[in-house]
Amino acid sequence: MAKYTGPVCRLCRREGTKLFLKGERCYSDKCPVAKRPYPPGQHGQRRRGRVTDYGLQLREKQKARRIYGVLERQFRRYYAEANRSKGVTGERLLQLLELRLDNVVYRLGFADSRSQARQLVNHGHFAVNGRKVDIPSYLVKENDEITVRESSRSKTYFKNLSEVLGDRRPPEWLTLDAANMAGRVVRLPERSEIDIPVQEQYIVERYSR
Ligand code: SF4
Repeated sequence: MAKYTGPVCRLCRREGTKLFLKGERCYSDKCPVAKRPYPPGQHGQRRRGRVTDYGLQLREKQKARRIYGVLERQFRRYYAEANRSKGVTGERLLQLLELRLDNVVYRLGFADSRSQARQLVNHGHFAVNGRKVDIPSYLVKENDEITVRESSRSKTYFKNLSEVLGDRRPPEWLTLDAANMAGRVVRLPERSEIDIPVQEQYIVERYSR
């Protein structure tokens, strides 16, 4: 599946908020959002006019896409599926994005960012219910168990990780068994547990025009 490969801090500056795309650096003084709080590019510092409804809807959609590292076409598919489901479309959309395997690996603390999680999944380091899954967009379900594969545990990355994994605190819809490098989806995430700076109702408005 294709992914964005350009400079990522630029994306946060464009959205005017931290999207936490780079792991540790996002929590340090090196984060450029605080240092240059205006959009990137030659005209970034120009005074901006009133934001239209269309602009607001676009920005919220772009923010969500960028946080989860999803390109437009795939994002539309998530929206279509959310729209077909019962319940509130916007909340279901965020729920689907949260259930991506790369996001769950990140939420469990196996990676510092979603892009790192995506790479770890791509490289075949994880199994779901005992079976290797190397597709970052794979959607996990309630009661699924996510484990670091036996053959990957001897790798330096996972050896180092095992020393700090016990300190990681996943959200309440997940449980982490740090000693066994395993996690479980105990239930589906609720909106209040999805801590991303996105107002999903604008995304729904955008796609339902
Ligand atoms: Fe870069 Fe992270 Fe700061 Fe975003 S939050 S600008 S990815 S350092």
